[in-house]
Amino acid sequence: MNPPEAQLRNILELERRKGYTDKAVIGSIDRYLKRLVERGSLASNSPVMRSIMALPSHGYASLTPDQRRRWLAETLALLNQPVQASVKQAPSAKTGAARASSATRAPAKPRQSPADQPKSQADLTAPITVLRGVSSALAAKFVHLGVETVHDLLYFFPRRHNDFAHIRPIAELVVGEEQTVIGTVWSAAEANIGRRLKGTEALVGDDTGMMRIVWFNQPYLARQLRTNTQIVLAGKVTLFKGQKTLENPEYEPLESEDLIHTGRLVPVYHSTSGLAARTARRLAKEAIDGYADVVPELLPPDLLTRNRFLPVTTAIRQMHYPDSWDDLRAARRRLAFDELLLIQTGVLIRKREWQERGLAEPLPLPPEVRDGYVESLPFTLTAAQTKAMHQVLEDVARERPMSRLLQGDVGSGKTVVAAACLIAAKSNGYQSVMMAPTEILAEQHYQTLCRILSSEVQPGPIVALTVPYLPQPLRLAILTGSMSTPEKQNVREAVAAGEVDILVGTHAVIQENVDFSRLGAAVVDEQHRFGVMQRAALRGKGRNPHLLVMTATPIPRTLALTLYGDLDISVIDEMPLGRKPIETRWVAPEEREGAYEFLREQVRQERQAFIICPLIEESEVLVTRAATQEFKRLSGEVFPDLRLGLLHGRLGSHEKERVMRDFRDGRLDILVSTAVVEVGVDIPNATVMMVEGAERFGLAQLHQLRGRVGRSDVQSYCLLLSDSASAEARERLQLVENNQDGFALAEADLRLRGPGEFFGTRQSGLPDLKVAQLSDVPLIELARTEATRLLEGDPDLKRPEHSALAQEVSRLWERVTAEAH
Ligand code: ADP
Ligand code: MG
Repeated sequence: MNPPEAQLRNILELERRKGYTDKAVIGSIDRYLKRLVERGSLASNSPVMRSIMALPSHGYASLTPDQRRRWLAETLALLNQPVQASVKQAPSAKTGAARASSATRAPAKPRQSPADQPKSQADLTAPITVLRGVSSALAAKFVHLGVETVHDLLYFFPRRHNDFAHIRPIAELVVGEEQTVIGTVWSAAEANIGRRLKGTEALVGDDTGMMRIVWFNQPYLARQLRTNTQIVLAGKVTLFKGQKTLENPEYEPLESEDLIHTGRLVPVYHSTSGLAARTARRLAKEAIDGYADVVPELLPPDLLTRNRFLPVTTAIRQMHYPDSWDDLRAARRRLAFDELLLIQTGVLIRKREWQERGLAEPLPLPPEVRDGYVESLPFTLTAAQTKAMHQVLEDVARERPMSRLLQGDVGSGKTVVAAACLIAAKSNGYQSVMMAPTEILAEQHYQTLCRILSSEVQPGPIVALTVPYLPQPLRLAILTGSMSTPEKQNVREAVAAGEVDILVGTHAVIQENVDFSRLGAAVVDEQHRFGVMQRAALRGKGRNPHLLVMTATPIPRTLALTLYGDLDISVIDEMPLGRKPIETRWVAPEEREGAYEFLREQVRQERQAFIICPLIEESEVLVTRAATQEFKRLSGEVFPDLRLGLLHGRLGSHEKERVMRDFRDGRLDILVSTAVVEVGVDIPNATVMMVEGAERFGLAQLHQLRGRVGRSDVQSYCLLLSDSASAEARERLQLVENNQDGFALAEADLRLRGPGEFFGTRQSGLPDLKVAQLSDVPLIELARTEATRLLEGDPDLKRPEHSALAQEVSRLWERVTAEAH
């Protein structure tokens, strides 16, 4: 049995012992299997592989306990069959077979260290526990850093490098430059810096002199920096009252082994609690020495030479232990290019697919109707809205189906722009649809549209509105899961019969069981929950409807160009006049009581408030538990006299909708919630957004949360609570404090955390970029050029020299598609 199979067997056996609860691996069995398959660890024709493939499309998780038991028993039986060397490729066949036979011959013998054996590609998928000295406890810590396999570890690149080749003595430090210093801590103490900030001030000396080091906002460092220990500091040298000073430098204790590496660039890895920097360094080294050479080359030879890229194996080595800064740059460039090329190739393939799908119905909107609409609005459109509206109307007037992304911060007024596209459909005798991710949002859109299109408000799931600038009444309908069956049936029939012009509803309901008689255009709200697959499904609904996707997530332009290259983009980058900025404040732990008092005062003024519970690393269960406890504490001890509600992701959708309705309709004063409340809800009476554990959220996400308040002309507030304000966290929260502009925050978030984190966990629909900088426009353009060239010569990537690339592209898009759900 080869190592992946052995590992699979252990995991499945554990799962059986744990009672088929999907608890055997961190993450889920499905995720583990997917990885196994993606990495090509199992022979594609092996019985085990077939058994995995036989799982339903929603995987192991979707099986009943009984089905799980059966599937597990069958698969284990296959795994326990005598070894038939079901190993993949020629090179691995040899080691695989050798290992299998030695394992069967002498199971009792101490296992030979795998480090001593020649490696094959298949070994890259082994868990990092195959490395010397990696216990499963240590491996679990790496999981938090996204590292599970040897391959992951190779691609776990250092955060930065310490330049031990160019350590400067303190006396020779140059003011204004980034430099690295080694010194002895003479003293370190808490210090007051500015009015509100507490920080740490230290004196560090070497043989040539001493200097002052300050860290803002990190008073606890005073305790961590022990007198007389040696530390490495890196940062920009400034002058303060004539004295050389480092402000907020990177620092770490000097490790004795660092000195061994003197004369070179030593990697500094991201660490996590309980994982010493030293350990990460040692393991990365071991992985590189043992495995870097078997990483497969993705790029075809002509592309490599044309751009003078390093071969992948060299690039990986140089990323960790570069021979010089130039080598490091070359390595980064090469690996960043890989990431961008995969994305660009995927995007171009997708775009071609759309274009080949056929034509749409042109829906020109007569100018007088357009003007009638604009003039009927109770406000003047902003310049940005007008521009976006014109772009949309130009698109739908063409035969080429519109594929447009409409971006605009919360409250920027996207709905009125989208409505123009619905009116265009109607005035050409076509139907249109507007979809939202939740019922509340669908209802909200329905009401907003009624208000925008006609001042009359009529209740009921189907209404006919008299619209002054249209010759016939406009028939609107709503369709959501919680409507009664006859009501739903009614709406569906009316839609199918062409008796409804505009249908508003939830994604799920509309996609699953609605037939339109003449669908001309579709608007989808909240793009990041709406993946590529859903887009495709929607296109199947009409001949080829025009598609407008709206998102409040401000996606920086480079990112948008990279990842939504198949969509055209309109941006509303301007707020309607008269909006009050939301007052945002970071609240120190000791000010918590005051914050509660403030909230109570707002409720006294008949306002409402949100309290958002912290994110807990990827575990819905823990988040729910924490939110439930917090809810109990708040309603029992802090606000026993107020009306509190609780919302979290594990509530059934009915329950969720009920709580949201209670809050919307003023039956609750405070809504305690997990981050599920993030998406587009409009509750104008809510004026306080209090976020607990704010440092755990992304900036963009905090901004989205903040956008839940400030939706009327009343002053609103956002309170960011954080108990563990490290300098980094503090700095990030300060950005939110000082910045109302979602785009600016998005750019900052992207810089600080990378796109994988940018949208919050798993919602991104974006591949995780480890190396590429989305600010590197030339490289993005190069990737686009090369991708275009590649596809021109070999549209389906069928040539043998493109097979590795083709495989990676489809793997990436599968992942992106799956995660976008
Ligand atoms: P979002 O972009 O977040 O979806 P909406 O379309 O829901 O924003 O608009 C938010 C609110 O602003 C709505 O009540 C809408 O009627 C109003 N609004 C839209 N455009 C303008 C404008 N130009 N001037 C004033 N109010 C506007
Ligand atoms: Mg909206």
